[in-house]
Amino acid sequence: KKKAAAAAKKSRIDFTKIDQSLLPTVIIVGRPNVGKSALFNRLIRRREALVYNTPDDHVTRDIREGVAKLGDLRFRVLDSAGLETEAASGTILSRTTAMTGNVLARSQFAIFLIDVRDGLQPLDHDVGKWMRRHASGIRTIVAMNKSESLDERGMLASEAGEAHRLGFGDPIAISAETGLGMAELYETLRPLFEEYIDQLPKEEQLQEDTVSETEESAENKLPLQLAIVGRPNVGKSTLLNALLQEERVLVGPEAGLTRDSIRAQFQFEERTIYLVDTAGWLQRSGQEKGPGSLSVVQSKKNLMRAHVVALVLDGEEIAKAKSSMNHAEVIIARQAVEEGRGLVVIVNKMDLLRGRKNSLMRDKVIEAVPKEIQTVIPQITGIPVVFVSALEGKGRMAVMRQVVDTYQKWCLRLSTASLNRWLRKVMSRHSWKDLATQPKIKYFTQVKARPPTFVAFLSGKAQLSDTDMRFLTKSLKEDFDLGGIPIRILQRSVP
Ligand code: GDP
Ligand code: GDP
Repeated sequence: KKKAAAAAKKSRIDFTKIDQSLLPTVIIVGRPNVGKSALFNRLIRRREALVYNTPDDHVTRDIREGVAKLGDLRFRVLDSAGLETEAASGTILSRTTAMTGNVLARSQFAIFLIDVRDGLQPLDHDVGKWMRRHASGIRTIVAMNKSESLDERGMLASEAGEAHRLGFGDPIAISAETGLGMAELYETLRPLFEEYIDQLPKEEQLQEDTVSETEESAENKLPLQLAIVGRPNVGKSTLLNALLQEERVLVGPEAGLTRDSIRAQFQFEERTIYLVDTAGWLQRSGQEKGPGSLSVVQSKKNLMRAHVVALVLDGEEIAKAKSSMNHAEVIIARQAVEEGRGLVVIVNKMDLLRGRKNSLMRDKVIEAVPKEIQTVIPQITGIPVVFVSALEGKGRMAVMRQVVDTYQKWCLRLSTASLNRWLRKVMSRHSWKDLATQPKIKYFTQVKARPPTFVAFLSGKAQLSDTDMRFLTKSLKEDFDLGGIPIRILQRSVP
């Protein structure tokens, strides 16, 4: 413990402050019963979480994911069940292999567990072979689990010699059950993680690289954090499954215990999408089915973790009702925008409005929703609305295009040069009431992205009127195609 604390002091990187989506990812691999779940549970600090012992569980269980805490280290950790199924049976089960392949692709590190009491088994060698074949780019550490008893008997050294033969370097001795060796695990992982974080693109670097040109910032290459929100029964789970496709991360029976840390993730056109608080709403959506209750992301904190919020509405209900959005939905939409998140509205269950006899209702829905959104969020024009049928799996492309498009706008950085060229043009377009007394905008610059935030530097003490501000906002949005996302303009006085 002391050692760990000292190492933490020396280091530059504070893992507790790193955006979760950027954390290094570690997959725990090993044959059945070596203690993968036990280690997973220890790392995510849910000691009460279940540890299964029956072989059947290994077949049915899917990948669990959580954020690990080890001292001040934070990392994403995956508990692999698919890999062990394959190793155990010696056959390649396509489903689990695909899953494991995907999971491996997003892991940078692996902890390869063996059971030190059993010594090396043929299956351990199979796992080793499998790792070398499928995970050659993944930095793998061998951990000898269940070392607590051997530690007492001083037998660890000979076991370590044997474990070395797996070909992944020096093993470390741990006990998932007692916590033995966690400090050593910490010291092994920290430098590797620091190296990993160091080679990620940095916000400051991104800023410097991109201010000179008017184009998408490199930030939009960072993982996109998406929250799918909406009332119970609108079809969020169905939509989520359509989005995840076969890469589904199932939330097992232990969901209640790990719901804060399980996060689903998928790829869309080379881009990593993280689903924020998925397990939270999955769980709650089963319980609160009352009208008007929001199963989702209600707290600002959760909303703030999302870059884009996808608000799901029920098209069939809208067709029958007087207004498109109920009170709770209006609140969520407004909150998302006020918190500076990108908003995409999804009208689901459009399959129920198909056919000639429904055409009037369908037209009504298609017309009413964008209008109503404009009414409840007057400050932003052009919030995207997508009409889908999650049940038929038809939503994925349409939804993701809008989500990604919104995200790209949200990440946009405009150069000061192009903004001031633009400013000179719009100054002549607007009848600035009385230029003698009105503040003069000396220059205009973007101070930050995500969401785009601008500063108008004004000469003198006066401030821009609301009308002028609205004009500026509207022109910026139109001229730079920033519709549908919240942008901010601040005013500063310069002498
Ligand atoms: P998995 O199949 O690799 O996920 O293994 P589990 O986590 O389900 O653990 C298998 C068995 O080993 C369970 O009975 C655990 O209680 C036990 N176990 C796990 N870690 C340790 C450990 O560090 N020491 C001891 N003695 N038993 C452990
Ligand atoms: P959640 O509570 O928002 O997660 O909603 P669910 O995904 O559990 O869906 C609630 C119900 O609506 C289920 O019976 C779904 O089968 C159904 N549903 C979801 N999407 C659609 C859709 O696009 N069309 C139709 N007809 N039904 C849907």
